[in-house]
Amino acid sequence: MLQKHTPWVLKHLQDIPNKPLHTVVLPKKIYFSAIQQTWMINYEEGTGRLSLVEAYPTLTLRGKYESEGVLQEALKRWVKKQAKEHLRVWLAKTAADMNVTYHAVSIRLQKRRWGSCSAKGNISLNAALLFLPDFLVQHVLIHELTHLKHLNHSKAFWSEVERFEPKYKENRHLLKQHAKDVPAWLTEQL
Ligand SMILES: [Zn+2]
Repeated sequence: MLQKHTPWVLKHLQDIPNKPLHTVVLPKKIYFSAIQQTWMINYEEGTGRLSLVEAYPTLTLRGKYESEGVLQEALKRWVKKQAKEHLRVWLAKTAADMNVTYHAVSIRLQKRRWGSCSAKGNISLNAALLFLPDFLVQHVLIHELTHLKHLNHSKAFWSEVERFEPKYKENRHLLKQHAKDVPAWLTEQL
């Protein structure tokens, strides 16, 4: 009976690539593919207030915490901070290369979107982009920045994208595959 149902099970697993198949655990190592940085994560339970000590390549979470969920939240905030530092500069540079101007940028941790662009020119980027290869981050940035000219996915929009990223179709496909690079502890509850 199990054998009979295997194709069905496999098919449905493919539909939900982001769902962790096992328990989510805190990372011992974090690899930011986008910026080629690997951090070792140390957890030191202590008596003082929880603090994060950055000394590349080591990040230490030290202090008192009631649950692992507290550590997870602290790590998520830290990833957001890293993303702010790197993605803001990256976006500014790409916008200059494309000769477009945006109004503001915000960095969030989101489950379903890599980025967005509003009619007012506000760009929002997902902090999880740090876990993608750099050319796919660039792909997302070009996409959102092109929305400053075309707030739709019209033919004109895609041909503008193609000017800056000739391989955009291939990269669009790769972006879907790389969604699995985002670690479960970033998007799922511990
Ligand atoms: Zn779009």
